[in-house]
Amino acid sequence: MSILSSSFQKEVDAQENILRPKYLTDFQGQDRIKENLSIFIKAARERSDTLDHVFLIGPPGLGKTTLASIIANEMDAEIRMTSAPALEKPKDLAGILTNVTEGSIFFIDEIHRLRPVMEEMLYIAMEDYEIDWVIGQGPAARTIRIPIPKFTLIGATTKAGQVSPPLYSRFGITCRIDFYNENELESIIKRSAVIMDTKINPSAIKLLAKCSRGTPRIANRLLRRLRDYATVMGNGTITDDIVMLSMDRLGIDLQGLEEQDRNILRTIIQFYGGGPVGAETLAISVGEAIESLEDFYEPYLIQKGYLKRTPRGRMVTPLAYDLLAIPHDRKTDENQGILF
Ligand code: ADP
Repeated sequence: MSILSSSFQKEVDAQENILRPKYLTDFQGQDRIKENLSIFIKAARERSDTLDHVFLIGPPGLGKTTLASIIANEMDAEIRMTSAPALEKPKDLAGILTNVTEGSIFFIDEIHRLRPVMEEMLYIAMEDYEIDWVIGQGPAARTIRIPIPKFTLIGATTKAGQVSPPLYSRFGITCRIDFYNENELESIIKRSAVIMDTKINPSAIKLLAKCSRGTPRIANRLLRRLRDYATVMGNGTITDDIVMLSMDRLGIDLQGLEEQDRNILRTIIQFYGGGPVGAETLAISVGEAIESLEDFYEPYLIQKGYLKRTPRGRMVTPLAYDLLAIPHDRKTDENQGILF
């Protein structure tokens, strides 16, 4: 797995935790989200109330987990973190919900992967602060309602479209986190370099920001690799030359694309006439897991304007032909509905 796509994996990364901002003031960029959250947090604190349930949407590595822990810090509340795949049985969820403390935060990552039976338990918990629990078996079985403390649920997802409408509608606050612009990434890199006690030239910061795929987790991971290259191949300071040499060795270009990005676009052009092609077929063709195609590669290719998601499948745009220096046949493309 490449250094970039490994950011799709949620491995526990001690280094990542060191760089994780703790309060809203340290969280760079996403100004609208920060302003709104700080108002809602302040209002809840003034009323001595719990914060409304929060739904965080965005590609991996953009700060959903970070925001959840920031909200807990700003609310001065305890936080319990889990992910939907870790909740195998209703009793796992019931166990957590009956043990939350008043005003605490419960964070569920990848909430789109929650099983329906647990979603139902969550609806009632979110709305009425109670859970339904079945005791006994067979004809003697009966359901009792157990009250639970008032808590705030923070749900995070890379796929908002896969969250069922009843669950979605129970979140009072929704934040869509977008890719970061270069200025925002530069501030993140500067902050991380200070924490890591690493010297990096201002122009090298700009170059690294361009290569970071709009994603703080990638910026931080690349910064750590650059520090290695600078230590071994330079004098310890990250310069433009170190960035260029490292990106070349890591197979990353100056807009953050790696070989698999180009491979995806090339495959759609060469094997599927530019598209449309279904995501599953495409994933098999490029030897990638469907989740990493959909969650990691596609969002950035779409944001950069190389790829489109259509109801009939994925299609490349004329920019993809230009990127790969493949001549495009206007007639064919017009037949397929691509606009030039
Ligand atoms: P997600 O949960 O969306 O996959 P994380 O919250 O785990 O992403 O963020 C990944 C890393 O990126 C964190 O360790 C944090 O250091 C960094 N990060 C994310 N967003 C920001 C931000 N806005 N400002 C500074 N660092 C950030």
